[in-house]
Amino acid sequence: ASIIEIKGLTKKYKNMKAVNNISLEIEEGEIYGFIGPNGAGKSTTIKMLLNFIFPTSGTASILGMDCVKQSIEIKKQVGYVSSDVRYYHEMTSLDIFNYTAEFHGIKNSQEVIQHYLEYFEIEPSKKIADLSLGNKKKVAIVSALLQNPKLLILDEPTNGLDPMIQHRLFEVLEEKSHAGMTIFLSSHDLHEIQTHCDRAAFIKNGEIISIEEINKGKDIE
Ligand code: ADP
Ligand code: ADP
Repeated sequence: ASIIEIKGLTKKYKNMKAVNNISLEIEEGEIYGFIGPNGAGKSTTIKMLLNFIFPTSGTASILGMDCVKQSIEIKKQVGYVSSDVRYYHEMTSLDIFNYTAEFHGIKNSQEVIQHYLEYFEIEPSKKIADLSLGNKKKVAIVSALLQNPKLLILDEPTNGLDPMIQHRLFEVLEEKSHAGMTIFLSSHDLHEIQTHCDRAAFIKNGEIISIEEINKGKDIE
């Protein structure tokens, strides 16, 4: 069964179609890339999946649930990292992780949190307000990973991360993917998509221009 199913999804702003009649099906366990230049419509599509904005027309479902009608249930089950991470500013990274672990009933949470703190080089006791965008992003990523969701949606997650942390992120994503997690990854970096995704949809001016199977590590024709 498809984890994400999008049919004819469209978002108009005045006369401009930010997303124009796109359709996609993403299968369980895939690392699925969503690639296009800035302004192509990636975030708008993702925000419709999470019901932060409403489609002008078309439908989308996640895990068989309608993205508009069942958005509350979807938000509980889906991990999401937005492109412009904003956060509960007075909390520390560790506060956020403890809260997330408790909310989702994570087993061995202290060990897992400790592992991620070290792995992503996150300072546990700094207020989020005092972190750079890249460091905020790491907190958002770890928080989403801690949920261990069936589906993880990452909107330009590597923006602002240094290369070593980017590399570690993809190691974790590949591990999670092997364990059955489905990952939907938006990016404007072709190399990133070629190296790490199983399939990718190319979006430009709001339209899907192609969908490709990827032989990891090989060049796309
Ligand atoms: P991407 O995530 O691929 O960079 P976006 O989905 O953010 O692209 O944006 C797609 C297009 O929609 C862009 O032209 C952007 O300026 C426009 N857009 C996004 N949000 C709004 C909005 N709230 N009002 C008007 N135009 C918007
Ligand atoms: P904008 O389109 O104004 O940039 P965002 O897409 O960042 O807004 O956020 C839209 C809504 O989604 C806001 O209410 C925000 O609090 C919420 N939101 C943004 N990122 C997340 C997240 N990672 N988890 C949960 N909610 C989020």
